[in-house]
This record gives sequence, C-alpha cells and structure tokens, in this order.
Amino acid sequence: MDTAINFSAGPAMLPVDVLARAKDELSAWRDSGMSVMEMSHRGKDFMAIAEKAESDLRELMGIGENYKVLFLQGGATSQFSMIPINLSQGQPASYINTGAWSKKAIAEATRICEVNVVASTEEQNFTCIPLQKEITVDQGSCYLHYTPNETIGGVEFNYVPEAGDVPLVADMSSTILSRPMDVDKYGVIYAGAQKNIGPAGLTIVIIRDDLLGLAPTDTPSMFNYDVHAKSGSMFNTPPAYTWYIAGLVFEWLLEKGGLVEMASINRRKSSKLYTAIDASDFYQNPVRADSRSWMNIPFTLANPDLDGEFLKQAEAENMFYLKGHRSVGGMRASIYNAMPEESVDKLIEFMVEFERSNG
Ligand SMILES: *Cc1c(COP(=O)(O)O)cnc(C)c1O
Repeated sequence: MDTAINFSAGPAMLPVDVLARAKDELSAWRDSGMSVMEMSHRGKDFMAIAEKAESDLRELMGIGENYKVLFLQGGATSQFSMIPINLSQGQPASYINTGAWSKKAIAEATRICEVNVVASTEEQNFTCIPLQKEITVDQGSCYLHYTPNETIGGVEFNYVPEAGDVPLVADMSSTILSRPMDVDKYGVIYAGAQKNIGPAGLTIVIIRDDLLGLAPTDTPSMFNYDVHAKSGSMFNTPPAYTWYIAGLVFEWLLEKGGLVEMASINRRKSSKLYTAIDASDFYQNPVRADSRSWMNIPFTLANPDLDGEFLKQAEAENMFYLKGHRSVGGMRASIYNAMPEESVDKLIEFMVEFERSNG
C-alpha cells in the first residue's frame, strides 16, 4: 500500500526519511544493544542523543547562549498556564486574540493573573491579523502573548509584534521551524511537537535567561521553568523517545538546507494552493491575503453538500484528514515541513478535477 498523504493539523506527518531511520534504529540504537525507548535518560547514550538534538535545534533557529531550551511534557496547553505562573509576578499580562488558540491561552491565563486583551480580530471573525498600529501594549504588563499561527483559522502573522521592553511570548506550535526567525525578539517561544517537530508528547520551551527564577516560591516544581532549566530538562523522566525523534527531524532539516530552504519550499507550496483556491469560484479561503498561513490552509466548497463526497474521493486518492475543524467546517490542508511538494501538487490536481466533475 502507498504511504498515505496525511493533511492532518496534528499529530501530523513526519518525514519518510526520519521514519525509515527510526525503524532501522528501533530495536537497537547504534552499538548500545537497546532501543532508545529502553535507555536510562541519565545514561551516556541518551545524554548524547539529547545534547545533539538541542545543539541541532540551536543551530537551526540561531538560538543564542542567553536562552535555555527545555524539553517538557504537557503540550502547548500546559504552557498556557506555565507562562502566567512563571512570568506574571502579580502584574497584568497582555494578550493578542487572533482565534481559537489565543482564546484558550487567554482563558487559562485568566485563572492566574489579570489579562488585558490589547488587540483582537474577533469582530472580523478571525480572518486577519491585527496591524502593528492596532496593538498598544501597556509597558507595565509582565509580557505580551500572541499566537503567530492560528492552526484552526489558518491565520498567520507576517511580522513580529513590537512589544517595547515587555517580554514577547509566542505560541509557535504550528509554525516553528517553518522559516528562519529572529529568536532574540522573544522572551519565550513554546511549541507542542506534534505539528512541525515530531510525535506528540514533547513540548519545547525556549526561554531567555532573565525570565527564569521569577515564579512564586510556592510554585510546584513541575510547573517552574527554573527547576527544569537547572536540571537540564531531567528533573523527572523526560519524553525521551520523542526527544530522540525530534532530534532526527532536526538533523533532517539541517541536511535539507535548514530553515532558509524550508521557507522557500513552504512559501511555494502554500502559494500554489492559495492560487488554485483563488482561481476558482468553487473553492474559497476567507483569510485576508496578508494574513494567510503557510502551514494550515482552510477552504470551503461553494456547495457544502459536496463536502462528504470531496472527502470520500480524496481518501480514494490516498489523501487523508482534509476535513476542516468542527468550528470552521469545510476543509483544511495542513502542509508542514514534512509534506512533500508533490503531494500538494496532487491535492491541487484533485481539486481541479473534482471541480470539473461537480462544478
Ligand atoms: C495544537 C496547538 C495547541 C495545543 O497543543 P497541545 O500540545 O495539544 O496542548 C496550542 N496552540 C496551537 C497554536 C496549536 O496549534
């Protein structure tokens, strides 16, 4: 059977080369005689795997010495709480609301500190990002949080919001590693792994040194960034196997030419698909042109009665998980780094053919 073309938003597809390598090393990693799944996380073999993964990620993203990289569990959703627990220091936090994931982050932060929503596109039904001039950050706030890419709405920032001296915090779950970025502009970057990094179970947090050690002293250890930073993400058993697979993905990205190369491929893949959608009255994408995501591309059919047939025929062509999020309806194609360009071409051909026979 052909390998399925998986358009899921997450867990998402992994590079086939990475899966092949993981398969080769599954039961015995190098000459260790055991699987990475079975190794002590404190043994020298796993320590080498862990350090290599971190240094490759640092190289890919250009992460400076003044940042710690943490390999945690609990998903991006845990970060919605850990961010305010660790950074709020009794001060209000500023949030930009651009869609479903921003809203969840705001809801969790509200349990912990005062939240000011400093810009929102809810009135535009979350079909665009706010402009810089529409964002006013109170310089007394403890941080500014935003969601660079809204995975459900398919809305992505094409600039980094200016926060002045306020630390900028970004939920990069669905856009990390899609292109080069200037890490120095951020206080904290976090991402669940299962979109563009690796399997579910790993959450990466990149945090500037001066933001460590700010949590209240009664913070439970597992929710305190400083505890994880001081123990090299080994305060308890880390998600070791997922960490290893993420490391294979980082190596694969470096071999492919790094994030500059990924950016040009991702730009090309997404613009092809938007061009195909815009060229037809049969398909629509509601997002303002300057706010369109490279990674998650929602689209609707002019006649929603055909949705079921579209999905059925796509599956017959080996293309899976194109159904849009239940809150949006229609379709969504998630085309992360691991999605080959030929597979995007195949989707476009299918869409043209489906329109021809049903339009
Ligand atoms: C998927 C996603 C999340 C939730 O991630 P979990 O790892 O399931 O907690 C949060 N934010 C964004 C932008 C996402 O895409």
